[in-house]
Amino acid sequence: MTNFGDCVVCGVSTHLFKYGKYLCNSCDLFFRRSMTPWSFFGDCKHNWDCYKESSNRQRLPKCRHCRFNKCVDVGLLTVSRYTKLADLVEYLSLLDANREKTFLKLSISTDFDTNTFLDENPIRFIKKTSDLNFDCDEWQIMNKLSTIEMLKNLDFPKYLSSQDLRYFLKKGYFLKGILTMAMRSYLNQEEFMSFPNGVDLFPDHAREGLHINISFLNLIRCQLVGKFIELKITREEISMLGAIAVSNPAVPDLSSNGQKLLSCYQQLYTSSLLQYCLAKYQQNGPARFCNIMSVLNVANQTYDNIIKYVCLCQYYHSDMQPSKLYQSVLNQLN
Ligand SMILES: [Zn+2]
Ligand SMILES: [Zn+2]
Repeated sequence: MTNFGDCVVCGVSTHLFKYGKYLCNSCDLFFRRSMTPWSFFGDCKHNWDCYKESSNRQRLPKCRHCRFNKCVDVGLLTVSRYTKLADLVEYLSLLDANREKTFLKLSISTDFDTNTFLDENPIRFIKKTSDLNFDCDEWQIMNKLSTIEMLKNLDFPKYLSSQDLRYFLKKGYFLKGILTMAMRSYLNQEEFMSFPNGVDLFPDHAREGLHINISFLNLIRCQLVGKFIELKITREEISMLGAIAVSNPAVPDLSSNGQKLLSCYQQLYTSSLLQYCLAKYQQNGPARFCNIMSVLNVANQTYDNIIKYVCLCQYYHSDMQPSKLYQSVLNQLN
């Protein structure tokens, strides 16, 4: 005798019992397909509740966005079922390698449209000419833009609404940008964060003025790189930690669907890092995992210190405006 039940996602009657739930064939297929690289879902046209009430589900036209959120809601997104650890590590490392290439080799044109870079993918970069020497503002712009482009290519942003995507990018790029600056310096065997070709993190006026304490600037430059050196952290570990850092659901203004999604992905990345540590360091795996996670505290302290630095600069050096282009990139991110 075959038992029937309602599909936990769409509500149709089904005899298929998968992952401890009734799940119809079509929803199972939809969810598995959603895990492969797809373009962005686009927004729901029905107020985000197509799949909320079971009575609605069959009447409303198919909405990929709400259907996916419902799948997440009922717990279909779990590590073991949809993620192979080796693939995830390779994918995150590849994203970081591509981001680094963009950062080092590309630039933006002088008529770059700062109104569109949060929404467009890929961002319109141009090849950097060999005679171009960036100052710290220009490196900052490239650090932000290459990080934003990388974040859009993580697994989950394509499932976010366009509004949530903006909130996520605005929050995520900053912490991820700090982690990647520190990683670059660390891999170059430097003990402090700086931009390529020895360009300092801070503009001349901040360093030469008397108002901002030099040891405070050094703390920002050195604290995170120092932690990396202490732990002898690897490139792969930093890539995984970066994914955990940016999938933090505590993004201001994020919708509840967005929060649920980020929280699921943060758990997924976190348990992947734990698995990775257990496989690589065996009995020392749990301790290694805790040590790597403790980097997040230091990254967040550096984050807070940079915010303090920006406030000090605005107060004491209000006459020293960054370039127009830089200001206009920043305006989009605020
Ligand atoms: Zn279904
Ligand atoms: Zn919908």
